[in-house]
Amino acid sequence: IHLQKHFPVRQFNLFGEKQVVHAVEDANLALYPGRATALVGESGSGKTTIARMLARLYDPTGGEIRFRGAPVKLEKGPAALRAYRRHVQLVFQDPFASLNPVHDIRYHLSRPLRIFKHARSNVEANEQVLALLRRVSLTPAEQFIQKFPHQLSGGQRQRIAIARALAVRPEVLLADEPVSMLDVSIRMDILNLLLRLKEEEHLALLYITHDIASARYFADDTVVMYAGQMVEGGPSEEVTQRPKHPYTQLLLSAAPDPDRIGPDGKSKSTLPARGEIPSLIKPPTGCRFHPRCPHAMPVCKERFPKRTELGGGHWTNCFLYGDGGDAPIPSTQAAP
Ligand code: SF4
Repeated sequence: IHLQKHFPVRQFNLFGEKQVVHAVEDANLALYPGRATALVGESGSGKTTIARMLARLYDPTGGEIRFRGAPVKLEKGPAALRAYRRHVQLVFQDPFASLNPVHDIRYHLSRPLRIFKHARSNVEANEQVLALLRRVSLTPAEQFIQKFPHQLSGGQRQRIAIARALAVRPEVLLADEPVSMLDVSIRMDILNLLLRLKEEEHLALLYITHDIASARYFADDTVVMYAGQMVEGGPSEEVTQRPKHPYTQLLLSAAPDPDRIGPDGKSKSTLPARGEIPSLIKPPTGCRFHPRCPHAMPVCKERFPKRTELGGGHWTNCFLYGDGGDAPIPSTQAAP
């Protein structure tokens, strides 16, 4: 809660002062067992930075990560990180870079089993690797276990990456744009696999995506980010059918639709031309969306609006819907 991440950059301004990228400001996110939450935004919105903080690849500059309601100590060292990653695993965007080409699938999947002591012998590890391959629908498992990454398609590699994360038996799975580098024809298969595993394993699933249309289909809850700030969230049905924040409305108006798929199979949709994500080295003051917002008011440049509860778990940060008064931010329950 109240997560913040600033990155120093090797760049000085005209006055010789060090510059900082304000990547994430005051982000509040709760994940629940058996529920999928989509974190949606354009490139540069800060969603991957949040996933990396939750995976403890980055330390937050401010705020707190909680797991089962208790603050996570930001201890360094392999033992502390391993203890945390027993519960929280991350699946990366690029299935081509996440597997080591010199090792076979048996090695990739048995390694976490041995490290996290879920298998005490090679025979036990082998059996569990075969079971993992079947759980991600890579069959016959006896054939896949001997293959090397270069012998697999992008979709098959992403299934291996998911199986590797599952080997640890996590409670929280963070999936960072898990299908964006895959062929459109297999994206739905991988999303369906994640949905099935969420149900079977009762996982708290964070699905990071720039595609709000897939969030609508895939996630129970959706949170929208813009330029490092969370601007709207709640049940996916509410957020996508009755969006309140002007940025969510803009994203939905630009969401892919079948009539706008190009001959290469990719969506031709783009956000309307009115502006682009601002530089996060010197972000706009107040609501960072104000330079693009058709409803911007003078107050929008002065400060960021507080969260306004709209009912049914739907909320937004926008002066059009009040300022949220002094309402406290909802508590984080099973958040990592
Ligand atoms: Fe637009 Fe102001 Fe709402 Fe930001 S706070 S989205 S600038 S109306």
